[in-house]
Formats: sequence, structure tokens, C-alpha cells
Amino acid sequence: MLKDQDRIFTNLYGMNDRSLAGAQKRGHWDGTAGIMANGRDWIIDQMKASGLRGRGGAGFPTGLKWSFMPKESDGRPAYLVINADESEPATCKDREIMRHDPHTLVEGALIAGFAMGACAAYIYIRGEYIREREALQAAIDEAYDAGLIGRNACKSGYDFDVYLHHGAGAYICGEETALLESLEGKKGMPRMKPPFPAGAGLYGCPTTVNNVESIAVVPTILRRGAEWFSSFGRPNNVGTKLFALTGHVNTPCVFEDSMSMPVRELIERHGGGIRGGWDNLKAIIPGGASCPILPKDALDGAIMDFDWMRENKSSFGTGCMIIMDNSVDVIKAVWRLASFFKHESCGQCTPCREGTGWMMRVMDRLVTGDAEIEEIDMLLDVTKQVEGHTICALGDAAAWPIQGLIRHYREEIEDRIKAKKTGRMGAMAAE
Ligand code: SF4
Repeated sequence: MLKDQDRIFTNLYGMNDRSLAGAQKRGHWDGTAGIMANGRDWIIDQMKASGLRGRGGAGFPTGLKWSFMPKESDGRPAYLVINADESEPATCKDREIMRHDPHTLVEGALIAGFAMGACAAYIYIRGEYIREREALQAAIDEAYDAGLIGRNACKSGYDFDVYLHHGAGAYICGEETALLESLEGKKGMPRMKPPFPAGAGLYGCPTTVNNVESIAVVPTILRRGAEWFSSFGRPNNVGTKLFALTGHVNTPCVFEDSMSMPVRELIERHGGGIRGGWDNLKAIIPGGASCPILPKDALDGAIMDFDWMRENKSSFGTGCMIIMDNSVDVIKAVWRLASFFKHESCGQCTPCREGTGWMMRVMDRLVTGDAEIEEIDMLLDVTKQVEGHTICALGDAAAWPIQGLIRHYREEIEDRIKAKKTGRMGAMAAE
């Protein structure tokens, strides 16, 4: 278990002072100019050495991403964009950073922005996060007043601005290029890649988009050293991480722990165990709505990290787990996700626009058992036609939960169809 002295977020629960004075007391904004004095290359090298992988879901190495930004400007400004949209169902970890420890993010923005040669950071926060926006804006204002950002930030000789922009509630604006469109004042529709944002991002300028947590951990990593950070977890899956537990645990929570911990230990230690005990566990969705569901049998020796989840045909995602006990109708739970993705599709590409609706309508019937057994494979086939054939990852995100359901719960789906045909009520959907 992570020791208190190894926690990056020391005010996760808002028990302490989140103001600048409080943050400084807890060690934030300490020697920031000194870190910057080591130069851009040093910071990027340290971030690469730390092994930090993006905390927003994709898990791309953060230092490597920064290194894609141009070393010399061709006359265009460069930007850091921080994705604080956090719209993934059940994911609520960045929220705790912004409302209780916002200075970690503001300081991280300055250091990360400096490392990639950006003149400003734009933080795109979801519209519903009103109190979080107020807390974050207060932290930004305090940092300006104290000379920590703005002209000659931290007396480093570097000018750096931080802008907070709020979205209007579209899930798709969490996709990095849709987010950039939305920031530019357009409809939040994902862009075709290439060009990638590092070449042409916000306003056509070099841009890096990072998740809130990925940026907020940067100052502590650089202060304590890449080796310290990489000492947690398994190779390729290192560091400390914010996790969340929601659903049928006794104490749903957000917490920081080491990567690569056993799933069962995380649930029992932080979530107070499954409602009704471990044997009452039915399934988990490991890291956000798009991650394929895993049944209890697969979870007994499960490790919570990128590699274990990928090897077991799921995904680590944001590390925010949805826990379902035996009272859950998993078919209906996955139908709910299918209906969410259908609603949130921006409609720009045909496989997603048509496919998400098609998949949801078949799922409607699987929930009630009003389907034919052959339709299960037909549905699986459609998920494969959507997956990998769309502009952005929403198409994949809509396909994967259904694939996971069929992989692990085919028998249950078949049972329900048979039950409906024979009028056997036991396997029918919960109302
Ligand atoms: Fe829009 Fe869906 Fe295509 Fe993404 S995959 S661009 S959400 S239609």
C-alpha cells in the first residue's frame, strides 16, 4: 500500500487548505524556477525516464508525447491544452484534483508548457463542473497575483498564460481533436488525423493535449525524481495513480495508490469490499464505459494496470472501476452503455452514426429476450465492422463493451432468449 509520504495528492479529500498558501505548505510551487532552469530537454528526458503514461485512458507515454512538439518555432505559437472534460461514465478522479488540489495542476501546466515551448495552457473543463471551475480559477488567479504564472513566471524569464474554458456537456469533446474544435468555438466534431495536434492543433498551431492528472503529477515527479516515480508498479506500468471505485462496493471512493496492485486488494482495502462479500461480485468495468466488462472468474488474480488489462482483453482506461454485484443484469448494464454511445455519437461518420443506433436497437431486444440466437453473432459482426473504421475512438468505445458482454455472458444472453420463447421468467430482464 502506498505510504502517506509517497502521495502526490495530499489534499484529495479537501480536508486541508486548497489555497496557494496551503498548497505551498504541502510542498507545491517549491523550486519551480529551479526545475525550469534545467531546460526543456532535461524536463522531457526526466518525464520519459519516469515512465509516466497518460492518465486520461489511452496510456501514451507523456514524455514521448511532449517530445513531438517542434524544438524551434516556425513563427507559430505553441499551446498546451489540458483535457479536463472528464465525461467518461463513472470517472471522477480529475474532479478531486481540480476542486481540492488545483495548484498541482496550475504548477504542472507551467512546467509542462515550458518543456514543450508553449506560450499558454488552455484548460478545457466540462460545463457541469461548476464548483471545480471556481476552485481552479481561484488558483489560477492566485498564481497570477503571486507572479507564478504570467509574465516572467516564477522569475524564470518565461512568459506563460493559463486560460480556463468550460464546455457545454458533449461527451465527444473529451476526444482531443473535438476538444480543439470546441475550444475554437466550433461544433465539437473530431478531426481526421493526420495532421496530429503536435503539427497542427489549436488554431492550426503545434499543440499537445494532456489529461489533468498527467499534468498535475509532473511537478512532484520532477522534484522527487524519475526513479522515485518509476519505483511503483511493474515495468511499463509504473507510478502512483488516482483510482476510483463506484457501484456495489461498501465505500465508493477516489484514492491514490500504486499501479499494478491486485484488483481485489484495491476493492477490499479502499472500497470496504463488495456489497455482500467477494463472492457476490458479478463483474467489473475496469476504467470507464468503453472498457470491456470482466467477469468475477477473470478477476480473482487480476492486476490493475495497462498490461494486465490488455492481456485479458479489457482496458485500464482511466482506472475508475464500475463494480457490479450479482443483483445486476449485465445485459441491461451494457445496453445502457450502448444507448449512451449512440446518444453521444457526433454523427460525422457512417459506421458510428448508424452502427451505434443499430447495436443499441439489437441490445434493446437482447435485454427483453425478444431476439433470435443467431442475432448474437450478427451483433458481434457489426461491432467488428464499426471497430477501427471510424474517425475517432468513439466507434471502438461503443463496440468493445458489447464484445466483452458476448465474450463472457453469451450463455446468459442465450438463456434469456430461450426463456422468452418458453415463457420461463427466471432469466428475464430486471425491470
Ligand atoms: Fe463522430 Fe462517431 Fe465518427 Fe467519432 S466515430 S467522429 S463520434 S461519428
